[in-house]
Amino acid sequence: MARTGNHNVQAKLVFLGDMGAGKTSLVLRFVKGQFSEYQESTIGAAFFTQVLSLNEATIKFDIWDTAGQERYHSLAPMYYRGAAAAVVVYDITSMDSFVRAKKWVQELQRQGNPNLIMFLAANKADLEEKRKVPAEDGDQYAKENGMAFVETSAKTAQNVNELFYEIGKKIQEIR
Ligand code: GDP
Ligand code: MG
Repeated sequence: MARTGNHNVQAKLVFLGDMGAGKTSLVLRFVKGQFSEYQESTIGAAFFTQVLSLNEATIKFDIWDTAGQERYHSLAPMYYRGAAAAVVVYDITSMDSFVRAKKWVQELQRQGNPNLIMFLAANKADLEEKRKVPAEDGDQYAKENGMAFVETSAKTAQNVNELFYEIGKKIQEIR
């Protein structure tokens, strides 16, 4: 995290999680205010930047949106190394994606930056009727692992800006 001016910071942020959990959709909702039902899968990783104004300062997020497929797993450390914050995403309609999210958390705990700010995002909260992962399970897992927990929907925008603001606040606290 490098200072770019008076109280203004730049921070690397990485999105990890199973393919299809909604990582790209969350990032595009935040960066472009858009959502597509037909979001194409990410190949390798995608990079976005977005500036957030918070507490009379700015945070420039350098966002790495990773692919999530197993075949790209070996590349993941390139994206989380040097990151100020990581968002691990799962899909509330997929128990597999929750299991996969826990694996990412364990990997970050073992190999990530020790000061890494970690968020657990339970996405697709609009699909309540198809829910497989109770909110309490996500919340409890996050608590046990010192992470912030948030239920999001890239589709309805529920808690998406809030997620990035919370990350920004935590980054401002520690810088
Ligand atoms: P990624 O592989 O984690 O990047 O997931 P994508 O962002 O590509 O999303 C996978 C699929 O889930 C796409 O068809 C999206 O339209 C859909 N999707 C993503 N987020 C949401 C959400 O919050 N609600 C609903 N209903 N669908 C979503
Ligand atoms: Mg993607």
